[in-house]
Amino acid sequence: MSYIFAVANQKGGVGKTTTTVNLAAALAAQGQRVLLVDLDPQGNATMGSGVDKRTLKNSVYHVLLGLSSLAEARQASETGKYDTLPANRDLAGAEVEMVDLDNRETRLKHALALHDKDYDFVLIDCPPSLSMLTLNGLCAANGVIIPMQCEYYALEGLSDLVNTIKKVHANLNPDLKIIGLLRVMFDTRSTLSNQVSAQLEQHFGDKVFKSIVPRNVRLAEAPSYGMPGVLFDRAAKGAQAYLAFAAEMIERVKTF
Ligand code: ADP
Ligand code: MG
Repeated sequence: MSYIFAVANQKGGVGKTTTTVNLAAALAAQGQRVLLVDLDPQGNATMGSGVDKRTLKNSVYHVLLGLSSLAEARQASETGKYDTLPANRDLAGAEVEMVDLDNRETRLKHALALHDKDYDFVLIDCPPSLSMLTLNGLCAANGVIIPMQCEYYALEGLSDLVNTIKKVHANLNPDLKIIGLLRVMFDTRSTLSNQVSAQLEQHFGDKVFKSIVPRNVRLAEAPSYGMPGVLFDRAAKGAQAYLAFAAEMIERVKTF
């Protein structure tokens, strides 16, 4: 059985893709069988896994539209040691093309169900919106991981996401829950970061992961080498944080 987690936050640039790619690689480094699903037409998680989005024969787009099986579309990340269901610009059209299809919110869920025995973890990198693509991610998942920067407006955006998750839970996917909030791009020297971080802990209690990912330039450099940060420079503070986060996730799922 696989644990399926959507990495979601409707804001762009908050660290969703960095978290998905590095958690995938860190879990794989700890012996877990992992599938990373790229649900963003930008294909950043695909490229960051060392898979070339420009030369895909089949992608998550084809799987969502029933034009290809997952088995035909998945590709191994040679650098990350996990599988990817890659994405590219084709996926931008999926939203409109899916309108006439049956069960359009649950197409990813059904594709993943056939491979439940292949993976310990499936991680879904969601696009920066609360669109039909994100809805497919949320319907397929057992839980949501929310990366967030500890900024002034972070909490405000969070309530929209929490409300969407509640609606999906009530109407489409009773299994769905928030697994946790991950503090990323954290600056320990910033008073504001520390204040927002304390507020988060007060508000969400043990839904806030203990691991904190610092701002670390090595994590930002890694994608241009087609490598997850945890493998690009394993000793760097950012990589170490994601390795710790993976260990925390492995412990957390034991309590499910
Ligand atoms: P999203 O997927 O939410 O849009 P990304 O993961 O692409 O966000 O991150 C946005 C930008 O911030 C990218 O350029 C990425 O390399 C950078 N970044 C993400 N996490 C960190 C971090 N911990 N330290 C430094 N840069 C980071
Ligand atoms: Mg992204």
